[in-house]
Amino acid sequence: MTQTMPKFSEFKDTLWYATASDAPTTTALKGEVKADVCVVGAGYSGLTTALELARAGVSVVVLEREEIGFGGSGRNAGHCTPTFTHFSLPELRNHLGTPWADRLIQRQTRANDKVAAMINRYGIDCEWEQNGYVQGALFPSHLKTLRGHMESYNAVGARTRMLDREEAHEITGSPRFYGGWFHEEAGGMNALAYARGLGRAVQQEGGVIYTRTPAESCDRQGQAWVVKTPQGAVRAEKVIYTTGAYTVAGWPKLDQTFKIMRVFVAATQPLSAEAQRIVLPKRTTIQDGRGDIYVYKYNRENRIVASMFPMGARGRDPALTRKILSERLKWLHPDLREDPRWEFFWFGELDMQRRTVPRLYSLAPGVIAMTGLSGRGVPTGSMIGGILADWANGTPEADLDLKLEPLSRQPLYMSVAPQAALRSYRILDNLRAKRQKAPLPPFA
Ligand SMILES: Cc1cc2nc3c(=O)[nH]c(=O)nc-3n(C[C@H](O)[C@H](O)[C@H](O)COP(=O)(O)OP(=O)(O)OC[C@H]3O[C@@H](n4cnc5c(N)ncnc54)[C@H](O)[C@@H]3O)c2cc1C
Repeated sequence: MTQTMPKFSEFKDTLWYATASDAPTTTALKGEVKADVCVVGAGYSGLTTALELARAGVSVVVLEREEIGFGGSGRNAGHCTPTFTHFSLPELRNHLGTPWADRLIQRQTRANDKVAAMINRYGIDCEWEQNGYVQGALFPSHLKTLRGHMESYNAVGARTRMLDREEAHEITGSPRFYGGWFHEEAGGMNALAYARGLGRAVQQEGGVIYTRTPAESCDRQGQAWVVKTPQGAVRAEKVIYTTGAYTVAGWPKLDQTFKIMRVFVAATQPLSAEAQRIVLPKRTTIQDGRGDIYVYKYNRENRIVASMFPMGARGRDPALTRKILSERLKWLHPDLREDPRWEFFWFGELDMQRRTVPRLYSLAPGVIAMTGLSGRGVPTGSMIGGILADWANGTPEADLDLKLEPLSRQPLYMSVAPQAALRSYRILDNLRAKRQKAPLPPFA
């Protein structure tokens, strides 16, 4: 398989690529090397795994097909909210059962402590701002759902609270919300700068990263696994695949453990000081509360970075897409006088799976894979390294914080289910808003 497959969206279009600090120096692997553990994929999941292992004195080699952060980790919208993206905590407990749900919940809800600690410890310059996250309510009955989230998250130790209409306005700058749910621990960052900083941290701790080095195959030779690359090989006791939505080869059928869903991100020109007083005056991240999400925050240059899912012509027609992004922002902030120009626009791929939480696969004795982050991968990819490193360090299967399972493919309906869910949320949100006489945003 060649190195430049057109399957994935363009990487270099992103705001982060234009603004991130330089990547650490890496080379392609030539010849054979030995390590205790070989990690395949240099996104947050692979890098935090390698970091944990290197810090524990384990020799670790990371193989990356393209460059550090090439996958979702270098091109996401940069929101780091330590919650789950789709299911509520009670729903997750139903899906995952005991003790798995509570273990994962504990890891996920504390993920931002870990993110902040890594950023501080390694001096990662990635625009990290921990100003919180607001999920707004655009019709009154949504507040009840948000209150349920607040109660269940606070019960496991998260620091969140409800906002009334006035406070939601004060924090977000938008008069449109009937109230909201505020998560004070959430943060935002330059996604690629964070990935590159993690890469540098791995190197500082003695780990080795090879880029432009795809893992092509993995075979047992005596006591070791040999991961072959175009010009070399890694001989390791254990192998961990963290190749996510950007999986190409490496292990048979690993790319069938998820279905791809695309998402787009856009960034305006830097906004004036006056506009910054009107839009997100407290520099929080905001989700407008609709199931068909519109999420935005500032970057360091005071550009608004917003993301949505493609739907119909949205995402396909550039002029219409920019219009939707602008009209939505101006509707949320009616006093905004500046016309947003969307100077950056890019797409990326998510590895969706049914439960929308990471899945851990046992591929062979000594070989595992983790895929299926399903869209909340900044906190999840940051905390997951702890779990994968536990496995590599010999933690018994029953004590791991994710259940090991055999490789399984996602059902065919997962190719359309996430889009269908978005469409149904949109219809339901519109119905509820109309019933409750709440105004609808443009292009709702
Ligand atoms: C556009 C977009 C916006 C998003 N926004 C957010 C957000 O705001 N907040 C949030 O929490 N999450 C967000 N996400 C999700 C999040 O970015 C991902 O879930 C997360 O980064 C995945 O990390 P990862 O390490 O598991 O995988 P990735 O970052 O995808 O890394 C996998 C790596 O494996 C490499 N690879 C693949 N095959 C091989 C092979 N055979 N050999 C060697 N290397 C290989 C790839 O090149 C890639 O670099 C977004 C995702 C996208 C695409």
